[in-house]
Amino acid sequence: MKTVAILGGGPAGSSAAERLARGGLRTILLDEKLAWEKPCGGGITYKAYSQYPYLMENDKPKRLVSDTYLAAIPSGSVKMSLTHPLVIYSRIVLNRMLLERAECAGVQIEQERVLGIDRQAAGWKIRTRHGSIDADYCVVATGARNPLRSVGTQYTAQDTMYALGYYVPSQRQHIDIQFLSGLEGYIWVFPRADHLSVGICGKGEAAHALRVRLEAYMEQKGISREGATFYGHMLPALEDNGWRNNRLAGEGWMAVGDAGGLVDPITGEGLYYAVRSGDLASQALLSDLAPQRREELYRQQINHDFGFDLLYGALLAKRVFSDIRFFGAVPNRVVEFMRRSPRFCEVMQDLFAGTQPYLELKNRLLKNLDGTVHEILMSFLFRKLVLGQTQA
Ligand SMILES: Cc1cc2nc3c(=O)[nH]c(=O)nc-3n(C[C@H](O)[C@H](O)[C@H](O)COP(=O)(O)OP(=O)(O)OC[C@H]3O[C@@H](n4cnc5c(N)ncnc54)[C@H](O)[C@@H]3O)c2cc1C
Repeated sequence: MKTVAILGGGPAGSSAAERLARGGLRTILLDEKLAWEKPCGGGITYKAYSQYPYLMENDKPKRLVSDTYLAAIPSGSVKMSLTHPLVIYSRIVLNRMLLERAECAGVQIEQERVLGIDRQAAGWKIRTRHGSIDADYCVVATGARNPLRSVGTQYTAQDTMYALGYYVPSQRQHIDIQFLSGLEGYIWVFPRADHLSVGICGKGEAAHALRVRLEAYMEQKGISREGATFYGHMLPALEDNGWRNNRLAGEGWMAVGDAGGLVDPITGEGLYYAVRSGDLASQALLSDLAPQRREELYRQQINHDFGFDLLYGALLAKRVFSDIRFFGAVPNRVVEFMRRSPRFCEVMQDLFAGTQPYLELKNRLLKNLDGTVHEILMSFLFRKLVLGQTQA
């Protein structure tokens, strides 16, 4: 293979490009905007920066935040100190840093909009506004709004959610996460180096309705929209069928990051999966395998690394947000259990750090059940008998 074209220069594309260039392949990256403030919370979990330390160890402006308040109606809120802080970037800073790393590794970076790609006898012709580029292989990293219909994930309406918010010129020291009744999603307030990213994501609800919910929350919490900038974007949230039929790779191409639907369907975390899939795609491309086997290897690596876990997450998502059959809406129970059980708090801390796989969550909760129930009962009895309280 001589030349690899990376279509899109967000975290997925620039990560793949950097590794391919370091592996000795001629790599061209095309992005219509290059570094830009892509609509995002910008939160990077411990799972991401422990595997890719440069996401944390750099001199770029960012915030490391540990104090987190989780709130649900009517249970109120609970404070959690994360064992590993969330690292929060402005996306223009993060994207620029990753593009600079790619450039230092030898990637040729071009500001170009890709208009289309055509398969040729050997390789691809990539059409841009200024002409065309020939490449032997394409890595598709054009994000959730991938305009290239023949490659990457084919989303149905059920496989996406809308996310929108405001960059607010204000400061605070902690993260807020607010669950709302009847919403398969949540509101976040993330402090960044010099502003806040305040946003909402939700499945099955129109952008306008989400905006109304968010603005009501901001008003209630005294977060002013004066001087704030609005943002909105699509977020992949594949359902189980979406995962099973996902188009991750085909002849001469692999899709990474959002263009491959690689986002946690419960939390909306996508930055880790963008960087990780860029890494796995480059490993497959740099392997000695025959071309078709490389695509197979990439699919297998994605599945084993995190794909099966996200598929299970897709099955869990509905229950997390709306199952009221057993314990009532899950976010309310989470808040109540966290107040009463240190063991349950540890599980939540690990979920926030990204170190608790969904596939093993049930077993861990069951294993801890005796201790957790004991802690909850003791806390309840203590409040009721000693403090004379009946409400949480
Ligand atoms: C509101 C919101 C909040 C989020 N918050 C978080 C969070 O806090 N933490 C987290 O982990 N994830 C978060 N995510 C998800 C995260 O933003 C994405 O998963 C991540 O950006 C995916 O990276 P990517 O490189 O795959 O795609 P993108 O970052 O979307 O990059 C795609 C790139 O392709 C380029 N491109 C597209 N089409 C073309 C074309 N035709 N020609 C040339 N270039 C093109 C674009 O300019 C862009 O630079 C959030 C998402 C949203 C919408």
